[in-house]
Amino acid sequence: MKRFFSILFSFFLYMSICVGNTTVYTIDNIPNVHLSNAQDFVSNPDGILSPATVNELNRIILSIQEQTSSEIAVVVVQSIGDEEIKPFATNLFAKWGIGKKDKDNGLLILFVLEKREITFETGYGMEGVLPDAICKRIQTLYMLPYFKKADYNKGMIEGLTKIQDILSHPETAKELMTQVTTTGKNDWSKPILYYVIVSILFSLFYILLIRNSSNATKNRNNYEKYRALVSYKSSTLVFAFIFPFLIAFVHIWLISKLRRLRNSKITCDHCGQKMRKLDENEDNKYLTPQENTEEKLNSIDYDVWLCDNCNNIKVFPYENMYTKYSKCPYCHAKTYSLVSDSTLVAPTPFSTGTGEKRYHCAHCLKDVRKQYIIPMIVVPPPSGRRGGDGFGGGGFGGGRSGGGGATSGW
Ligand SMILES: [Zn+2]
Ligand SMILES: [Zn+2]
Repeated sequence: MKRFFSILFSFFLYMSICVGNTTVYTIDNIPNVHLSNAQDFVSNPDGILSPATVNELNRIILSIQEQTSSEIAVVVVQSIGDEEIKPFATNLFAKWGIGKKDKDNGLLILFVLEKREITFETGYGMEGVLPDAICKRIQTLYMLPYFKKADYNKGMIEGLTKIQDILSHPETAKELMTQVTTTGKNDWSKPILYYVIVSILFSLFYILLIRNSSNATKNRNNYEKYRALVSYKSSTLVFAFIFPFLIAFVHIWLISKLRRLRNSKITCDHCGQKMRKLDENEDNKYLTPQENTEEKLNSIDYDVWLCDNCNNIKVFPYENMYTKYSKCPYCHAKTYSLVSDSTLVAPTPFSTGTGEKRYHCAHCLKDVRKQYIIPMIVVPPPSGRRGGDGFGGGGFGGGRSGGGGATSGW
């Protein structure tokens, strides 16, 4: 029994250590150190920052406050559970009321290690000197490089020092902008280079694939070669949009190759004479009524070849890939299409609706009506309130934020 209790005890001890290691913070239990000491601005309950860094940050923030009256709070925690970092910061900012009430010149810096994210929440009055784009640049240029190396102390000090620069000398913000535009240019050149390399490799691979397929059909007749190559036409067109290099030329080559295959003279398999391709009017009398309807609708084009020597006839169907007509389920002609799609009963937020599609076959003249269910209308939930009331109960001046700022992850 004694042993059982000691196991139970160590189990609870172990559990409490586990839970203790990963306190999940809400806006209600994050320690507001500023309440107990007016010169403390850094809430660091998990000890992620070193005491020296906390002192340095407090010194910087105090000097900013004395110079500009802006209020800054820094919160560094391990976890906020499943909460999103940005709304969490907005709510915490509102709860603490960071910034002077008449100036709304507050800034909250929230760092969540588990998410590997940092966010700045700026008060209304702060957005002019610290617009979202500048916040983002401070994070990506001065903080993330250190965070990536797990040097949270250095990253936080560098970021706060840059903020101090900008708040006390707003013209440095302009410098930061140009710095980023050049970095931005460098960031673009690499993806473009990769894109060009990949597209050239892909094009070469694709040309080999088509060549192989047309070589494999060498012993077949023109019509069979045509059928083998035409399957590449639509995919080549799609690839031409993604990889304009070379593939566009492949597409043009493929089309002219297909045209040549379709028009080059064929030999009569009865008498060995060259056959003659009939024109669109001349070929009608050799086609069935179904084939004539399909040709009229341009869903299938028929080429009719005639041997003038022995009257041998060959008919080759060429299916149009870009037609609205499909195979009729009743007569199997490619003359079946959607005629109308109408709403019989409109859907509401509370009930589904009914729609009706009408199909018609131009060959067997069959009419088909198919009813289907239209899903209920989804009403979007009302959008959340931006910013907070700011009642100044958090030891800060009672400033409000407008949801401005920026978030970065590493
Ligand atoms: Zn013949
Ligand atoms: Zn039909």
